[in-house]
Amino acid sequence: MLEIRNLRAFYGNIQALRDVSLNVEEARIVSIVGANGAGKSTLLNSIAGVLTSKGGTISFQGREISRMAQKSIVELGISLVPEGRQLFTHLSVLDNLHLGAYTYHRRKNKKIISDTMEDVFTLFPRLREREFQTAGTLSGGEQQMLSIGRALMARPRLLMLDEPSLGLAPLIVEEILNTIVTLNENGTTMLLVEQNAREALRLSHYAYVLETGRVVHEGTGKALLDDTAIEEAYLGGV
Ligand code: ATP
Repeated sequence: MLEIRNLRAFYGNIQALRDVSLNVEEARIVSIVGANGAGKSTLLNSIAGVLTSKGGTISFQGREISRMAQKSIVELGISLVPEGRQLFTHLSVLDNLHLGAYTYHRRKNKKIISDTMEDVFTLFPRLREREFQTAGTLSGGEQQMLSIGRALMARPRLLMLDEPSLGLAPLIVEEILNTIVTLNENGTTMLLVEQNAREALRLSHYAYVLETGRVVHEGTGKALLDDTAIEEAYLGGV
């Protein structure tokens, strides 16, 4: 579904991605793990068109997207749940969700918007209870649900999540990770960046390890979990 070849990205003179190549097959959960500063967010932002990469190719369902505008990438079916949620904190839950559906609003497709909103509320009943509440007053876990809900409003085929469990209590982390599995079972392909690497590998079909902008290991989630060298280097030992 997604094929990345020799991707390079820079911030000024600093090279954040060094010839990264990876594949995300349809209907899979694929994780990117690695230490702080490894380039994980840069990779997701490059795929989403938030950052422009400086070399290599990104193709989605056979189409080269690395030079496309962010909104065209959303329209093709890729949504990003960004690190730190990036909600419109002064707007209501409902308004944040509507903003996630802006491509459908442009096409005045009310039926798709209301059906998708219903799906989001079924997935996260707590958002329905708080639809008129200002996003900034939601708890951390509810804000993360809203950020995922907003991304789902664009009806992505590939959903990318950047550190969805960051700063959340263990029970909420479990809820968010379960949601990722549910969405995947319902047919959405997932590309996940997660500081909680062990949990991410447990639920991933496949994973890549990034180190200072390079892919240094790859394998099934289980194979990486069972690899003692990976365990010691990236998962904090047993
Ligand atoms: P973290 O888990 O800490 O978010 P990460 O793996 O997502 O880390 P990135 O945020 O992609 O890493 O950063 C990769 C490298 O690029 C780091 O060395 C970082 O300092 C650098 N970098 C990221 N954003 C910028 C920026 N806006 N300007 C300059 N350098 C940046």
